[in-house]
Amino acid sequence: MAARKTTTRLALLVQLPIPPVGLTPPRGNVPLAAGYLKAYAQRCCGTDVQIEILPQEIADRYGDAALVAEILGREPWLVGFSCYLWNVERTLWVARQLKQQRAETLIVLGGPEITPENTWVLQSGAADYAVVGEGEATFARLLHALGSRRVSPDAIPGAVPLASRGAALSDFGLGQPNPVEPLDEVPSPYLDGVLAPDGEGTIYLETLRGCRFRCKYCYYPKSFRRLRMFSQSRLLETLRWANTADVKEIVLLDPTLNGRRDFDALVDVLAHGNSAQRFSYSAELRAELLEPRQAEKLAAAGVSEVEIGLQTVDPAAQQLASRRTDPEEFARGANALGSAGIRRRVDLIVGLPGDGVESVRRGIEFLARRKLYEEVQVFNLSVLPGTAFRRNARRLGLVYQDRPPYAVLQTPTLSLEQMAALVEEAEAAFGTCFDPLPAAAELVSLADTGRCEPTAKSSTPRADLCSSGFSSGSVAQVIRMSLDGPGADKPWALLPPPQRWANSLLLWLQAADFDAARHTAAAVLDYVLCQAPHTTLQVVLEPQGDYQQVSPRCLSLLLETLYRTISYLDRYYSVQPGRLRGAKRLVVVAPEAARKDRRWRQAAGQYAELVFRRHGTL
Ligand code: SF4
Repeated sequence: MAARKTTTRLALLVQLPIPPVGLTPPRGNVPLAAGYLKAYAQRCCGTDVQIEILPQEIADRYGDAALVAEILGREPWLVGFSCYLWNVERTLWVARQLKQQRAETLIVLGGPEITPENTWVLQSGAADYAVVGEGEATFARLLHALGSRRVSPDAIPGAVPLASRGAALSDFGLGQPNPVEPLDEVPSPYLDGVLAPDGEGTIYLETLRGCRFRCKYCYYPKSFRRLRMFSQSRLLETLRWANTADVKEIVLLDPTLNGRRDFDALVDVLAHGNSAQRFSYSAELRAELLEPRQAEKLAAAGVSEVEIGLQTVDPAAQQLASRRTDPEEFARGANALGSAGIRRRVDLIVGLPGDGVESVRRGIEFLARRKLYEEVQVFNLSVLPGTAFRRNARRLGLVYQDRPPYAVLQTPTLSLEQMAALVEEAEAAFGTCFDPLPAAAELVSLADTGRCEPTAKSSTPRADLCSSGFSSGSVAQVIRMSLDGPGADKPWALLPPPQRWANSLLLWLQAADFDAARHTAAAVLDYVLCQAPHTTLQVVLEPQGDYQQVSPRCLSLLLETLYRTISYLDRYYSVQPGRLRGAKRLVVVAPEAARKDRRWRQAAGQYAELVFRRHGTL
């Protein structure tokens, strides 16, 4: 942590990652928005506030309580959070804890989840201000106003004082986005040295903001009313820097790379800036708008992968979504990309209004038969706040989760079961499994042997923790504890402190008699979820005595305890085929002999995944 003069106020910017599903750390959580905010505020305002971005390594790996402790330890005057679908609930939890522990800390929320429909975010009481839309200018003015006290922070366009400051929610309507014009006045966080390529040599680059399409499921249009471009000279300057900065991949963030009228000229710039072919590009575009010669040009410029959304082949569903795509034109563009050697990731959405079993199936068959992909992503529609579909959800008959990811649960023509069956059909057709959870045996093996050598012992003999080799601190990913012996009245006291937990936690419990110890085990889970409700949690039970004591009533109690708290990841997985409720799970490590015990296997298998251990191995 860099030294800071005690008189300087610290504004700390935080972006929490997509929750990891296993023990592998999250990827791709580049704090680009925070980078823009910092670069702009430093340049335009010469603010006397020191702005820091919480290092990605910490944001990505620390568990809920560990994050709170880390942030408080930096003594920020203000904390700004970027709120996305996947992190907004966890962000609010962290913000609430910060307020509880140090009420004077100012909390500012920004990002796509800040929208009038999201009253549950705006009225959470966890924040002082919300920034609507593009945040660079608004955040800089807010910092200045909050710091100087000569300007009222409540009169800044785009900044909304929230309920905890005494303003009524109806004031939200006054907060109009406040975009910077011309766009080049937003500095590049890379050129300004605010951000560096991530650990894999990847940078994110916008060539413009805005999208000329208005797909009704997308919340991009709400933030950007029209197209605004970065200049060619700015792009070339960034690419020149990338050539010297060991960049390996540039992810182009334009929502539709070929949606602009000067697309050919843009590709020329990308090619010119990558004439030595030092890096590759990836991008999103619309295949149906692409000419074959443009696919060749993209490949020559170094574009190695594109995401192309087919979404649906049904004309009625396309019309309702305001996204007309002729499947034949899509196929022509996708084939051109494939012939040019560009890897194609194709998206299909399940649950669009107007789509039914047959039409979704036609989309799957169309892609599979014509082999228009290297990878296919099939996902359920999210009825996102701020979109036309959300505004008209009742009229369209859409039932959806009331919290992220806001997945559609029912449409007039599709039930949740039908949607899950269609996703399964797609998995079979494309020979893949979408968003698989790591195999239970693999998890157990990782925790049991490989990476996670215990590096520290707690003060009690009954709880070991393993720091799994993190370089950024001492957070534990695997926590082992035995439920036998003294201390069962307060078993949570045997755990390492929550401030040392990672955001993906494997809790490994041992007991001679799990049935007798089931309430103790449930109390441990309760405690863990209270301290870390948004942490990815997997629980391994390892019987030390008779495996049959891992009884159905023990497993049922533990599963029920795990799902008393529902996280984003649980909701995400709850609509997937084959998932009971969500992402949390129980794994029982049983002796090989248990494999032959059909009755126990069937009973226990209703609640837990079973892993059999043969002579000390799996
Ligand atoms: S889905 Fe893509 S093309 Fe459609 S409005 Fe959103 S960003 Fe634009």
